[in-house]
Amino acid sequence: MNKIFKAILIFNFSLVIINSINAQFTHQDTLRGSNGPGRDWWDVKKYSISIQPDYANKSIKGSNEIEFYVLKAGSDKLIQIDLQQPMEIQTATLDNQKIEVIKREGNVYWLDVKKINFSKTEKIIYPPPVRPHKLLITFSGKPTEAKRPPWDGGWIFKKDDKGRPWMSVACQGLGASVWYPCKDYQGDEPDFGATVTMKVPDTLVAVSNGKLFTNGVTQGIRQEGWTVQNPINNYNLIPYIGKYVNWKETYEGEKGKLECDYWVLDYNLEKAKEQFKQVPMMLKAFEHWFGPYPFYEDGFKLIEAPHLGMEHQSAIAYGNGFKNGYRGRDLSNSAAGWGLKWDFIIVHESGHEWFANNITTIDIADMWVHESFTNYCETLFTEYYYGKEAGSDYCIGTRKLISNDKPIIGPYGVNKEGSGDMYYKGGNMLHTIRHVINDDEKFRTILRGLNSKFYHSVVT
Ligand SMILES: [Zn+2]
Repeated sequence: MNKIFKAILIFNFSLVIINSINAQFTHQDTLRGSNGPGRDWWDVKKYSISIQPDYANKSIKGSNEIEFYVLKAGSDKLIQIDLQQPMEIQTATLDNQKIEVIKREGNVYWLDVKKINFSKTEKIIYPPPVRPHKLLITFSGKPTEAKRPPWDGGWIFKKDDKGRPWMSVACQGLGASVWYPCKDYQGDEPDFGATVTMKVPDTLVAVSNGKLFTNGVTQGIRQEGWTVQNPINNYNLIPYIGKYVNWKETYEGEKGKLECDYWVLDYNLEKAKEQFKQVPMMLKAFEHWFGPYPFYEDGFKLIEAPHLGMEHQSAIAYGNGFKNGYRGRDLSNSAAGWGLKWDFIIVHESGHEWFANNITTIDIADMWVHESFTNYCETLFTEYYYGKEAGSDYCIGTRKLISNDKPIIGPYGVNKEGSGDMYYKGGNMLHTIRHVINDDEKFRTILRGLNSKFYHSVVT
């Protein structure tokens, strides 16, 4: 074979590979996963979500007021709003002017704001020097239901053990736009926080992220509104609606008094009070390794959920059956059973408050930053209470779960995560790096440094 022919063959072969990679993704994936022209000129400051679910009909209706600043001035603008089918936008107004939906393109709405001249850029400081623009969207529909939460996404309309309604949402990966209209892009968190207000029958209780700011009952309908002051990922804003009861305690932490608030179904109160004694233990260990809990203003909350668990910021979802281990199993399979000494969901999902919620990746292709460090939280928790040898045993034990199937980093710009090896292989990579550094205090300083340098930030 002559050299030129060989070169052409190799070149063509490379093109085939590149095209086959691109062919896996659609324009919809790019719209969802990239900071495109309908997104990059405006910066979300706050979401104020109000919803009323209809349990019998498995539908929801509501509104989201999106406050934003202009990053790139101009008068020729379209706004991309994500809302996944079959949910629908009903109306949209911007700064009290009605605006038109130009078209719906799958899970994306294009809103026409050409008649408004965004003449200057607005600075990202607080308190706002100018009033943010307010885009008010009303929406309704039957949201996709999650079949296997939390691994797939959507609304969960369940019954508790006593046959009473129990509702929540899990939507990591799939995205918050499965139920409310937003800029469904992890790189743009609402800098001034968010509110979730829910209207439910007065026989139920509605809990969400942060702290309660409004609560009342009129004509059999209870309205409860919760607010977070800090930046938050869209997928972390979650309603929890059911026959909840609660108790509170105060944790004396590195940054002062932290309010810890616990919500469980009424019949699980006693079991939960016993199991959730691990929360202050978790906070003590993680503040030692990573620095102060990142959301003192919003409090820490653990809420019983109709699925295994998720890192919902200041409203961690808990569904581990009030048992130690991962559903009663030791993931490390270690002889000493280190993974059975503590509750996997309390430790792992709370670890995400530092790695995922405090430090958030712009693209879920980099989700290993969330999961590898949080996986390593489990080792560090074990080490804090049972010694260095125990931590190492736990970490090394999880190597059996590595599948070496594909890269940990996914393709960028298409909302696609990499291999599940981001957990155990990623945690073991950090364990290896720590042993190369061979200076535990320095390693701890790095972990604390990451959490202060990238405090409330998005990263690559
Ligand atoms: Zn995780």
